Amino acid sequence: MSETLTGTCLCGGVELEITDPQSLGYCHCSRCQHWVGSSLAGVVVAKENFEFTKGQDLVKTYESHLAPRNFCSNCGSSLYDDLGAVYFVAAGLLSDLDMKPSFHQLVAYKAKWHEIGDDAPQYAELPG
Ligand SMILES: [Zn+2]
Ligand SMILES: [Zn+2]
Repeated sequence: MSETLTGTCLCGGVELEITDPQSLGYCHCSRCQHWVGSSLAGVVVAKENFEFTKGQDLVKTYESHLAPRNFCSNCGSSLYDDLGAVYFVAAGLLSDLDMKPSFHQLVAYKAKWHEIGDDAPQYAELPG
């Protein structure tokens, strides 16, 4: 059984589809805080299970340290971080996402004002 989810940026110019999301988790690093304004809730998906179905020409890449970050050049929505074999797709784009968070990573860099409110495992650095 493969699960397919669709997503869209804020302006609707970019549409995407992911299949078989592996996990949902939060990244609390300071770069993600700058990128989305808070911790980044993202879905881990294999690169080959991600595709744009509309508006790929609107997608721009910011060559951030470690991971290129892709966003909609029209509305500015964060789309995904390219981690190589996997993408970390902004969870808020996806409709009908029904997963529980399973990790918090880079918690050592968490904003002081952010209180984690679930029981998912917390890692000071990266999981495992
Ligand atoms: Zn957009
Ligand atoms: Zn991060």
